[in-house]
Amino acid sequence: MADETDRAQSAKPGEDTVFGKIVRGEIPTKFIFEDLECVAFHDLNPQAPVHFLVVPKKPIVQLSQAEESDAALLGHLLLVAKKCAEMLGLSNDGYRVVINDGRNGGQSVYHLHIHVLGKRQMVWPPG
Ligand code: AMP
Repeated sequence: MADETDRAQSAKPGEDTVFGKIVRGEIPTKFIFEDLECVAFHDLNPQAPVHFLVVPKKPIVQLSQAEESDAALLGHLLLVAKKCAEMLGLSNDGYRVVINDGRNGGQSVYHLHIHVLGKRQMVWPPG
């Protein structure tokens, strides 16, 4: 947990990221889903029995830098999250969808991504 916070505190927007390398195929990654707009893959450090990420191919740095012209893409990412959740058997019991934005949001990779977590009971408020 401290590691994640440390990573978020020290991460900086602006540079190419590991997700850029993944969407360009430079880091071989098994995708749950891929289309022209985005990819989905399992998180390397899962925080739930199922924890995957939906990542746009467009390198939007973070949600707070998304623009009006990204509206359709942002909607598409949520629908892909939903479809992948269905494929992975999360629909019956529900799941959590998270976007961390910036330092206080705990963002550690500065390429927009949606977390989807399921197969355990989530608590509120989150940490
Ligand atoms: P965030 O802290 O919201 O920026 O989330 C970044 C997430 O990316 C974390 O949950 C990491 O475990 C995950 N992550 C980092 N590198 C990889 C990778 N190569 N493959 C899959 N997930 C990764």
